Amino acid sequence: MGKRKKKTPAEIWCPYCGRKAMFRPASYVYGDDSIRPETFLYVCSGYPKTCDAYVGAHDHNLQPKGTMADSELRHTRIMAHRALDAIWKQGYMTRNETYAWMATKLNLRFKEMHIGFFSDYLCQECIKICEDYIKQQEQLNKKRGERIKRMSMAPGGKEERYAT
Ligand SMILES: [Zn+2]
Repeated sequence: MGKRKKKTPAEIWCPYCGRKAMFRPASYVYGDDSIRPETFLYVCSGYPKTCDAYVGAHDHNLQPKGTMADSELRHTRIMAHRALDAIWKQGYMTRNETYAWMATKLNLRFKEMHIGFFSDYLCQECIKICEDYIKQQEQLNKKRGERIKRMSMAPGGKEERYAT
């Protein structure tokens, strides 16, 4: 018998308090003016009184997009996403290269490069590596710029500059 595609919600438990997660429409958390009310979330059954952990579900198979996260971890994951996006959006690498590069840096397999599964520690590492990389690239660009400036000011420098 072949593997049946899962279309039923997963049974997961809150990693913070151990309560069972409830499968709820996004409006349960975001309210009725949620941007995409047809999407679903896994929400801790302690929500919102005693626990605020939840995680989004994939539309196509209803499986959780990662591990349930409290507001702090959700925020850190957003920051990690932004840090990674900055690398490829600023044109240092392609999106794929960025993810492959970060996987190597974090000692993960490429298929493990899902920020939804990242711990706070991995998020912080990811952010730091991205920030260091961009800082380094900016310094290199500055040095290159200074070299071109020096060349253009030196005698015959203009020719040299235009020759390249
Ligand atoms: Zn909980």
